[in-house]
Amino acid sequence: MTTSDDAPARAAASPWAGGWHGSATRRTSPNQAMRPVPPASVDLIVLHSISLPSGEFGTGAVQQLFMNTLDWDAHPSYQSIRGQRVSAHFFIQRSGALWQFVDCDLRAWHAGRSSYRGRGECNDDSIGIELEGLEGLYFEPAQYRTLVTLCRDIALRYPIEHVAGHEHVAPGRKQDPGAGFDWAQLQHALDWPRCRFPPDACSAVR
Ligand SMILES: [Zn+2]
Repeated sequence: MTTSDDAPARAAASPWAGGWHGSATRRTSPNQAMRPVPPASVDLIVLHSISLPSGEFGTGAVQQLFMNTLDWDAHPSYQSIRGQRVSAHFFIQRSGALWQFVDCDLRAWHAGRSSYRGRGECNDDSIGIELEGLEGLYFEPAQYRTLVTLCRDIALRYPIEHVAGHEHVAPGRKQDPGAGFDWAQLQHALDWPRCRFPPDACSAVR
C-alpha cells in the first residue's frame, strides 16, 4: 500500500510563480510594458495562430520573432513583418509544448488595435496565447490539451470572463486563429459557460 501523504500538497501547489507559469519554457521578451494604472481586471484570453515561415512548424522562428532575434532576411515572406516588435504571453507548439515570453502581470503586444466586451486596447487587460498553426488549418490534440490546462490555470490567478480569437477582437483586420479552431471542443473541455466565448463560435455546443 502506498502512502498519499504528499498528494494533497501536490494538488494544492500553484502552477504559478508570480505571473510566470511553471510548466512553460521561459524566455523574457523585450516587447512588453506595464499594464495601465489603475489596473483593469485581466478578464480576457485572446487566442491567436502563428507560424513562421507561414505553414512551417517547429522552426524556432516564432520564438525568435518574440525575442527580436529573427533574421528578417532568412525568408522572403519576412519582409512583410520586418521590424515588427510583437509578443504574446504564451506560445503552444504543435507538440503541445508551452513557452512563455511575458509575465502575465505585464502587458504583451499581441492584439494591436482591438476592442472587445465594450473595451478597447485589449492588450491592456488580456492574456495572449499563440497556437502554432495556420489560419484555416486544424490544430493538434496536444495543443488543445495544453491550452485547456493553461486556460484553467490562468483562471486560477485572473478573473477570466471571456475567451476570444484575434479575429473577434480585431474583426476585419485579423482572421486568426481561423475556421480550423474548434471553439466547441475548447468550451466542452473547459466546461465553462457558453457566454464566455464569442457569439456564434460555439454553434455546436449545448
Ligand atoms: Zn493574432
